[in-house]
Amino acid sequence: MRWALVGASTIAAEYVIQAIRAIPGGTVQCVVSSSPKWAAEYAANHQIPASGTDLSAVLADPRVDAVYISTTNEKHFPQAMAAIAAGKHVFCEKPLGMTLDEACEMVRAAESRGIVFATNHHLRCAGSHRAIRSLVEKGRIGRVLSMRVHHAVYLPPHLQGWRLNDPGAGGGVIPDITVHDADTVRFHLGEDPAEVVAQMTESGLGQGVEDSCMSVWSMPSGTQVFAHDSFTHSFAGCGLEIHGTEGSIFGRGIMTQKPVGEIELVTAQGCERVPYPNYDLYTQAIMDFDAAVAGKGRVAADGVDGIKSLAIALAVRDSARTGTRLRVNYGGFR
Ligand code: NDP
Repeated sequence: MRWALVGASTIAAEYVIQAIRAIPGGTVQCVVSSSPKWAAEYAANHQIPASGTDLSAVLADPRVDAVYISTTNEKHFPQAMAAIAAGKHVFCEKPLGMTLDEACEMVRAAESRGIVFATNHHLRCAGSHRAIRSLVEKGRIGRVLSMRVHHAVYLPPHLQGWRLNDPGAGGGVIPDITVHDADTVRFHLGEDPAEVVAQMTESGLGQGVEDSCMSVWSMPSGTQVFAHDSFTHSFAGCGLEIHGTEGSIFGRGIMTQKPVGEIELVTAQGCERVPYPNYDLYTQAIMDFDAAVAGKGRVAADGVDGIKSLAIALAVRDSARTGTRLRVNYGGFR
């Protein structure tokens, strides 16, 4: 697969470029940025043969099969729509758009063009999360009663820009982290939250956007979900717990970008450490994407998954803003 990077971003530099190159035949053809100087510097640093600011020229290039969009959030929609119109396969960062309408339009456009469209929800690619989902599916904890996600971390200094002070770029912990929780919860429980209630605050880093949020979600089955997301917690650790009638699963340190952390299953028989395969999450995501383009599989998280994670995050923010319990609007997607 021959890729163009749309956005000279940190996530591409730290994870996705190497994931693309880890797959046989995977190449990064060029990088597009709003700044010619930054694009050239980035290309040189990452051995990318071409760089520029003209997205339409890149999209007209028949040597580009797919684009990876990792710009700030407000650019995802126009860039994805342009790529879809040009017939390129799209691997888009979360949140898909700033609004539900944007996300729905992107996904419908991709469907109508018959291109592969994926959302980069890396956590569902992790061996740890796939092992947990398998435990839940096999009924090892019985009927699920509740799930807690603790994703209160300290935002690393090199990421402390637009996320903390620019609502127009999609800043705030909810579009950044709650969207990942939303996808993770859906992935493990196999159902979509019906209603949410939330509170958010600025607890030290946020300047005009929330840097912390706690929310409670009700699932159609009656399962209750609690999510704690923050940019300001240095020592809280991260993880999830799923509690059922026959057991509990503790996933410690697994809400991360790396294949780390441990899983414990506790039942009436005692405690057991659950092994899982260790591999790079982003390489798995690109591998799944490649398979989908080749017609031999499906992407890890598709466009509808991206719509739903955004829908939940938007409902959480609206609930926190209005102080009311809200029904999640999925834009007509089931
Ligand atoms: P960055 O701030 O690193 O990059 C975003 C944009 O900022 C770049 O596309 C680039 O703009 C500009 N930029 C960054 N560094 C410089 C610089 N030194 N000089 C000039 N411009 C610069 O954001 P992230 O990589 O952290 O996030 C990008 C997207 O990826 C977001 O949508 C985020 O939500 C998502 N993300 C997803 C993760 C996941 O695991 N799924 C993890 C982290 C982020 P330009 O577009 O003009 O090149």
